[in-house]
Amino acid sequence: MNKHLLALAAASLLVSAGPLAVQAQKTPIKITVDLTEAPRKLYHAEIDVPVKAGPLTLLTPQWIPGNHAPSGEANAIVGVQFTADGKTLAWRRDDVNLYEFHLDVPAGVTNIHAHLDAIVTARTSKQMACLEWERLMLYPAHVPVKDIAIEPSVTVPAGWGIGTALTPTGTGAPPAMTGVAESAHQPSAGATTTHYAATNVEQLLDSPVIAGKYFHEFPLAPEVTPKHYIDVVSDEAEDSNLRPELLAEISNLVREAGAAYASHHYNQYHFLLTLSNVAGGEGLEHGQSSDNGVGEKGFAEPAQTLGNSDLLSHEFTHSWNGKYRRPSTLYQPDFATPQQGMLLWVYEGMTQYMGNVLAARSGLKNQQQYRDMLAMSAASLDNESGRIWRSVEDTSIASSIDRRPIAPWGNWSRGQSYYQEGELLWLDADTLIREKTGDKKSLTDFQKIFLGKGGDTGPNIVTYDRKELIADLNEVLPYDWATFLHEHIDVPTPHTDLAGIERGGYKLVFTDKPSASERMLSTARGPRGGGVNVWYALGMRVTSEGVVNEVKYDGVADKAGLTQGFKIIGVNGEVFSADSLRQALDDSKGNTKPIRLTIQDETKLTEVNLDYHDGQRYPSLVRVEGTTDYLDEITKPLVAVPAK
Ligand SMILES: [Zn+2]
Repeated sequence: MNKHLLALAAASLLVSAGPLAVQAQKTPIKITVDLTEAPRKLYHAEIDVPVKAGPLTLLTPQWIPGNHAPSGEANAIVGVQFTADGKTLAWRRDDVNLYEFHLDVPAGVTNIHAHLDAIVTARTSKQMACLEWERLMLYPAHVPVKDIAIEPSVTVPAGWGIGTALTPTGTGAPPAMTGVAESAHQPSAGATTTHYAATNVEQLLDSPVIAGKYFHEFPLAPEVTPKHYIDVVSDEAEDSNLRPELLAEISNLVREAGAAYASHHYNQYHFLLTLSNVAGGEGLEHGQSSDNGVGEKGFAEPAQTLGNSDLLSHEFTHSWNGKYRRPSTLYQPDFATPQQGMLLWVYEGMTQYMGNVLAARSGLKNQQQYRDMLAMSAASLDNESGRIWRSVEDTSIASSIDRRPIAPWGNWSRGQSYYQEGELLWLDADTLIREKTGDKKSLTDFQKIFLGKGGDTGPNIVTYDRKELIADLNEVLPYDWATFLHEHIDVPTPHTDLAGIERGGYKLVFTDKPSASERMLSTARGPRGGGVNVWYALGMRVTSEGVVNEVKYDGVADKAGLTQGFKIIGVNGEVFSADSLRQALDDSKGNTKPIRLTIQDETKLTEVNLDYHDGQRYPSLVRVEGTTDYLDEITKPLVAVPAK
């Protein structure tokens, strides 16, 4: 869908939602979510909504902040039943906006009760659950969600711990379930309900809960105010007891973010971390917390730890960039109006830059690893075929349709390149400011202004547009920032922005051996690991079993007619293996003969010749002697770790 059609869709939904009324709802909605059946993929909710007699429209969220897409799962909300004074109330889903429930409230009724179940297919296991409130939320339409008071409670199985940024007010016995067929679904024996202080619907959606059998809460950087914690649940007892060195690095992250941004916009901050091979991965920002999901050994095994090194720093940075400061078109007052993705190269792109910089400053990765991974990212962007037809801004605008990338020809589609393109753009800006001010200023000075407007605050949202961004950059360094941004963002560019790497004292090159970080990452399980990297030689990604899972548009493999799903059986007459493929690359150097592949294409075997003669190629940054080493300067800690 192009920009014009998105705008039309936005306009039509605005009409169906009607204008937002100004009056706030002061008597809180009460919601109790029962997680005792989470291991069976079912959450339950009891909701009391204060109402007036007459027609009532209730909404469930569609556009979830941070997802940059209409990802609300109204189809997973089941077992819906409304009652008033003990009598069942009829309801009807809106024919156009499927996230709206219409009811008629009888005369004299001031409260209706809703029972909902949610089918939850991710972020749960036998030992843990993550509660994203949007899965079970109902609230009146036509009122800004920040003006609707709500009082939440959560029921968990006996012995489970709970992590959240919500403020607990007490615990008690769980309420009975009331739904249409709840006789078999009462909370399990020993379950307890924790009540939380009233908040508003906007903040509750921004305050997920993790709960689990193996739970630890660790305080971080104890000398820092406000307080920071990491709350961890895991499938195996030993995993949630995080290593002391890792906890020290996360404490460093708290200090480094404080020094970089010089403000905070939360009353206290909770990193929420799930360690599970069942519950799935996650990285979702919130104002006072972040929801981080990695594998069971995601911060224990070295290769996985390196792969996850910028997860916590990225999501933490979002508390400032994305949650507090938000592009005006990405903020909607009702979770129903479509979000518009322009400026995601700031929201996500600058966060991608700072996530990696803060990880290096905190010790979550070292400076060499920072440079190795920057080389991998820059090389990947520079070799993205789709950059000839599509600008970075277009990847931002279309973010909501690109959140689930199409695997075949992903390099031709570009997907969500605004993350990594933004990282290089802000490295360019950072080194430019440093160079032009004779090292007196840096991007940190800009972030102190841009992310710190209003000083220290509690959770809040302050929107911006490109004009304000440019004005704040000019306050740090008077420069033609409008043209700088336009040339990198608004138009397709044949090459990625390597100016920051080059001004930073390095050059992107290709060598015949992978960097230490690339070698380590390739041993990790998951999407980055396991295959043979022949992307920069043959223009295809190959698994360790020889399956071609991506082909570079207009690359060597593409020109030979290969496509996703082909399986390489033989290489130059040898049976396929990672080693035989690498050997063929080595032999290709100075050789006029093509590389011969035997390919299984569905049920047929064919021979394919690759016209390639340049050996193995892996990206790396090499130091340019005699220039300022800004990359190492940027990734040095700003804060000395306090003595014990
Ligand atoms: Zn992000």
